[in-house]
Amino acid sequence: MKKHNFSAGPCILPEEVLKKASEAVVNFNNDDLSLIEISHRSAPFVEVIEKGRKLALEHLNLLDKGYQALFLQGGASTQFLMTAYNFLNTKAAYLNTGTWSSKAIKEAKLFGNLVEVASSEDKNFTYIPKGYSIPNDVDYFHCTSNNTIYGTQMNVFPETDVPLICDMSSDIFSRQLDFSKFDLIYAGAQKNMGPAGTTLVVIKEELLDRICREVPSMLNYKTHVEKDSMFNTPSVFPVYVSMLTLEWLKNLGGINFIEEVNNKKAKLLYDEIDRNPLFNGIVAKEDRSVMNATFTINEGLQSRFDSMWKEARINGINGHRSVGGYRASMYNALPLYSVQALVDVMKELERKA
Ligand SMILES: *Cc1c(COP(=O)(O)O)cnc(C)c1O
Repeated sequence: MKKHNFSAGPCILPEEVLKKASEAVVNFNNDDLSLIEISHRSAPFVEVIEKGRKLALEHLNLLDKGYQALFLQGGASTQFLMTAYNFLNTKAAYLNTGTWSSKAIKEAKLFGNLVEVASSEDKNFTYIPKGYSIPNDVDYFHCTSNNTIYGTQMNVFPETDVPLICDMSSDIFSRQLDFSKFDLIYAGAQKNMGPAGTTLVVIKEELLDRICREVPSMLNYKTHVEKDSMFNTPSVFPVYVSMLTLEWLKNLGGINFIEEVNNKKAKLLYDEIDRNPLFNGIVAKEDRSVMNATFTINEGLQSRFDSMWKEARINGINGHRSVGGYRASMYNALPLYSVQALVDVMKELERKA
């Protein structure tokens, strides 16, 4: 039986997706060829990527609404610079909610002036800043919807007339939002959609008119939109697995369905963190992430807890090196019973300690 995988990324994928994907590596579509040895321009693969692009828009309720979905390479980290390269003409506004936002800010500074509208760095990124205002003379506003490392999540997105760009790497397809508010969404696949190696970009076509400088072809959004995400060889395997995961999600009932499950999982774990005197949450309660729960354990109990959860076949709950403690990532494919297994260990430790 598979272990309970709470890994923060790369992360758990649905078992049926892994099975189909592994079969396709040996024999794709019963055509006696591997998925990864056929031309990316062959009809069977074009069908895969087109299906993936369509499913992504469908899940976000953006199909036929003037948006394009692209499967690019270079990770979300390349999007930090690509967004600025294309759209930062003079000045852009950024919300700093953690490591990933800070990295996006660092890259963007290479291209123009930045207004950091707010930052939660003063309290080691344990909350989401609120009540900030966005200047209306900026080229765009950039934020990170879910702070994977610290375990905070934005519940409210600002109303603004400037284009809204969002790094949704670690919570895309996990909850319902009005995605039409966003002009550009990007997400590295390996948190909630597929294996590492592809990055989903959902871009409003109108935004392409705002590309403000000469951008090299590979880094220019227009190139990829015009070539239907096939300007160069896409990462065929990650694209295929992402498509399968999007299909899996659709068959389950889409974001509406998975959001309920995700809320149940998060409630189960956070309730235990709050109830159990041995454990403490790290971030402000109202900003807790449904995807990544961070917590600490009382002094002296760590090694005992560590051996207990390992014994229970739990994987990947060590906290990020910059935060310490523990982090349980509960992405879409993580079953409720895995969270129950972790909660059971926490209860057992309380009984024995
Ligand atoms: C993991 C992560 C990234 C970095 O993604 P790469 O694909 O490794 O570049 C960026 N932003 C967020 C929110 C993340 O969780």
